[in-house]
Amino acid sequence: MCGIFGVFGHPEAANITYLGLHALQHRGQESAGIVTSDGDRLHPARKMGLVADFSRDELAKLPGNLAIGHVRYSTAGESIVKNAQPFTVEYAHGAIAISHNGNLVNANDLRRKLEMDGSIFQSTSDSEVIIHLIARARELEIEHRIVTALKQVEGAYSLLFITENKLVAVRDPMGFRPLCIGRLKDSFVFASETCAFDLIEAEFIREVEPGEMVIIDSKGMRTYRPFSPEPSRFCVFEHVYFARPDSTIDGRSVYRVREALGRKLAQEHPVDADVVVPVPDSGTAAAIGYARQSGIPYDMGLIRSHYVGRTFIEPQQSIRHFGVKLKLNAVKEILHGKRVVVVDDSIVRGTTSRKIVKMLRNAGAREVHLRISAPPTTHPCFYGIDTPTRSELIASSHTPDEIARYVTCDSLGYLSLEGMFEAVRAAANPLSIERRHCDACFTGKYPIEFRPGTISSLKRIVN
Ligand code: AMP
Repeated sequence: MCGIFGVFGHPEAANITYLGLHALQHRGQESAGIVTSDGDRLHPARKMGLVADFSRDELAKLPGNLAIGHVRYSTAGESIVKNAQPFTVEYAHGAIAISHNGNLVNANDLRRKLEMDGSIFQSTSDSEVIIHLIARARELEIEHRIVTALKQVEGAYSLLFITENKLVAVRDPMGFRPLCIGRLKDSFVFASETCAFDLIEAEFIREVEPGEMVIIDSKGMRTYRPFSPEPSRFCVFEHVYFARPDSTIDGRSVYRVREALGRKLAQEHPVDADVVVPVPDSGTAAAIGYARQSGIPYDMGLIRSHYVGRTFIEPQQSIRHFGVKLKLNAVKEILHGKRVVVVDDSIVRGTTSRKIVKMLRNAGAREVHLRISAPPTTHPCFYGIDTPTRSELIASSHTPDEIARYVTCDSLGYLSLEGMFEAVRAAANPLSIERRHCDACFTGKYPIEFRPGTISSLKRIVN
């Protein structure tokens, strides 16, 4: 769970990257980093915390018109500053920095081999393996060394690299994670999601295609297809939960996909009720779709506090039970005496849903019908979304009826797998390229085999 951004040819590269990362903050809040190049050398800055924690003075120390940045939520490696990206190194051929979104499935094997061969790692992140492989490659041009390195790794990667005078963008052959190209006046920009382009007023050009490498330097932009083609497997959970609804990724509006998921959900799991309430923000667009399809009025029966940051320190045991109340509060006026449909995108462990149902009942809801705009989450992700182990995923060992009993709702309806894909298809625009998706978190069908120990740290967001 990370966001990446890059810019080539802008006099305020650091500031533009700061803004771009700001729009991608939802993709990771543990650490943030920016590396610029002034043409002679790279200037890195990384810190724990949010992009907004960079001061004006810190940005002013990042000169040059070429930059990449990263926001991180760790899916592999600990949450410490030495794992913050971009990683920047100097080696025999100059300097290089890397920003990675995704997860490599053979990183541990590769790392072990590299260490046996004498490599010394600075971090515990899987992304650093790529840097070591690049440093060892024998080719002269950086793009060729990157290809040699990437041919040895397996898994999910959307990557941005800079050297002193080049930017290289690559997406893995299956295209698990998004990556887009845009134009900002005379400069090129790259971002995980198009919402970053909106903020800096850049024009979206297209996505970096799965398996494509884009190189930008003083000669202009070139693109290569260095890998053997694979059927694409864009992560469907980006649509369901992870991407921002104002982004267009995978050739479709994320908002439209979520609305369509909600419509489909209303068709598959109708219920007599008085009001449709979203769990904000994750369930909002799907709840709007559910309300439109069912004709049941939509209302904001839960209000979210936007000030519960990742930096939140767990309160002492005595007040810990406030839990979800720090983030959500019920609006009694809307809920009292009502039969409520509450819509969220997923149930992970079930703890949030259980607390929400209780909160709605305490606010006077007469009935609570929980609707989930995706199929049951039964399997962990090994390609860059942070989900807990199987044993912690409630749907891996419980039926929807059992889950309904646990969360104490009157009824529970999950969208079917077919319904989810119909909604994804329904939201395509005439220009969308129909691609296959990765749905391993719902089906356990992993498109790339994973190795034991792939995920060295399995933690969950304090959602
Ligand atoms: P839980 O209490 O564990 O069932 O969490 C359910 C909530 O987590 C839902 O509101 C989801 O929107 C949210 N969620 C789903 N996937 C993730 C994820 N990978 N990281 C953080 N939150 C998530």
